[in-house]
Amino acid sequence: MSVAIHGQAVSRGVVIGRAVVLGANHLDVRHYLIEPDAVTDELLRLGRARDAVAQEINAVKAHVATLGAADAPTELAALLDVQLMMLEDQAMADGVRQWVIERRYNAEWALTAQLDAIGRQFDEMEDPYLRERKADVGQVVERLLAALKGESLSLEHVVKEHPQQDDTPLILVAHDLSPSDLLQFKQSVFSGFITDVGGKTSHTAIVARSLDIPAVVGARAASQLIQTDDRVVIDGDAGVVVVDPSDILCDEYSFKQRQGVLERERLGRLRNTPSTTLDGEAVQLLANIELPSDTEAAMAAGAVGVGLFRSEFLFMGRAKRNLPPLPSEDEQFEAYKEAVQGMAGMPVTIRTIDVGADKPLESNRGGQEKLNPALGLRAIRWSLAEPTMFLTQLRAILRAAAYGQVKVMFPMVAHLSEVRQALQLLEKAREQLLAQGQVFGDVKVGAMIEVPAAAVMAPLFLQHFDFLSIGTNDLIQYTLAIDRVDEDVAHLYDAMHPAVLRLIAQTLDAGRAVGKEVSICGEMAGDVGLTALLLGMGLRQFSMHPTQMLAVKQQVLRSDTRQLTPWAQEVLASDEPQAMLSDA
Ligand code: PEP
Ligand code: MG
Repeated sequence: MSVAIHGQAVSRGVVIGRAVVLGANHLDVRHYLIEPDAVTDELLRLGRARDAVAQEINAVKAHVATLGAADAPTELAALLDVQLMMLEDQAMADGVRQWVIERRYNAEWALTAQLDAIGRQFDEMEDPYLRERKADVGQVVERLLAALKGESLSLEHVVKEHPQQDDTPLILVAHDLSPSDLLQFKQSVFSGFITDVGGKTSHTAIVARSLDIPAVVGARAASQLIQTDDRVVIDGDAGVVVVDPSDILCDEYSFKQRQGVLERERLGRLRNTPSTTLDGEAVQLLANIELPSDTEAAMAAGAVGVGLFRSEFLFMGRAKRNLPPLPSEDEQFEAYKEAVQGMAGMPVTIRTIDVGADKPLESNRGGQEKLNPALGLRAIRWSLAEPTMFLTQLRAILRAAAYGQVKVMFPMVAHLSEVRQALQLLEKAREQLLAQGQVFGDVKVGAMIEVPAAAVMAPLFLQHFDFLSIGTNDLIQYTLAIDRVDEDVAHLYDAMHPAVLRLIAQTLDAGRAVGKEVSICGEMAGDVGLTALLLGMGLRQFSMHPTQMLAVKQQVLRSDTRQLTPWAQEVLASDEPQAMLSDA
């Protein structure tokens, strides 16, 4: 019987595929399909890992035997025996081999897949003692994974594309995925993903959008309702997941999928069309990127620059990539330079590190245990608390500016004191480079308007900055006091709330009054349902994921700001702006 699960629609499109459910502790495990001729080698890797773990457990056992009862409880020896037994269990070993031989899963993936399968059997056992043995199997698998890591291949090899074993797309289902986990999936075999938690503008959802694969977040119990190998449909437009769909339903979704492909092809023709309204107003469509290599997609979509480079992604997920906790000045410089060169002379706006809240830094886990991390030491607050790190980043950005047009932008400023300190540190970074005789370039300096206080103070901030960019994802979160990652309050997260619209309008007006650029780089800029309203409010710079750009351009081409401007004023004055959107 088919089951529909409703979540948050984060990434457009439809995919019909086979589910791969990941347990929460399996996210560090690499998932890829091996080549047919690599099966024997993969089984040998598993064999070597098993021998190494057996040796390890036997060594611990021997050590335990030399200790007295006070230092080593008898249960410990028994536990080690159980683990050895499990390691040698033929059914377990055969199960893992099967995943490798029949599915061509890599060894790590096969182990966790088998653990999930066995885990379900344990869960169904009536005897509580036997049920608890699930944890023992888990520990053995953890040991095996660690042993495999000892001889692990490079990340480049792991993420290298592997051919699908058949045409069925794979859909990743997990309780939660961090934005950096998701970034790792960028070159992986998955064609869609579903998570139990998360809101529409959580960073996981934002990265999903950049992957351009259908995705639904906040699907609550999806990871429990769906089992590995279930047939699943993701309708990324509606935010619906259908488990075990009927053939008729699959036909309907296949039709929708084909329509989506045709629509994309049609939009593709707009790539080189100048983004100008019917009445001749030029509108800049800029790209949001997470990695320097994303500039390729930005160029392909016809972006005229990068309006937001989320530099924090260079700082995240580093342990999994065997990198030092923080990127050095040179590593950052190379990354920024790559982005600048990738945009071939067009401007690149590098936002200084914005960690905290749903983008934790591995070396700063402590911060995440706070009750309200989104209100804590994040973004510019963190940078000002870590001036050495901040100066390193600023120097790297200034050096990259020697290779093209660079703009630097500070996230989440709210206090004038933060503005002053950030600008002083930028000046200090320049002085340090001068003293070192390093080559660097000029940068335009801007700030993000993400907290209501900053929107209200926009005229003051504009005295200190060359430009502003409105981060509507956070501006909505902080104006309405709605955690953007909490699916329980997602229904209250409302871009069309009059307070949000008025703060945006105020900021745009402040920029216009002094002739300085104000863009929007939050998800509102890529929402085609809002393009007309934002144009009417005077926005002329939209920054969004490249995947959204051509659809937004289509809206721009159909718009006439002479009509939209007075209409937008009515929407702004209305108590229920949402109701007026359809009149555009
Ligand atoms: C925003 O808050 O709108 C924004 C663009 O920044 P981020 O989504 O990275 O917090
Ligand atoms: Mg933000």
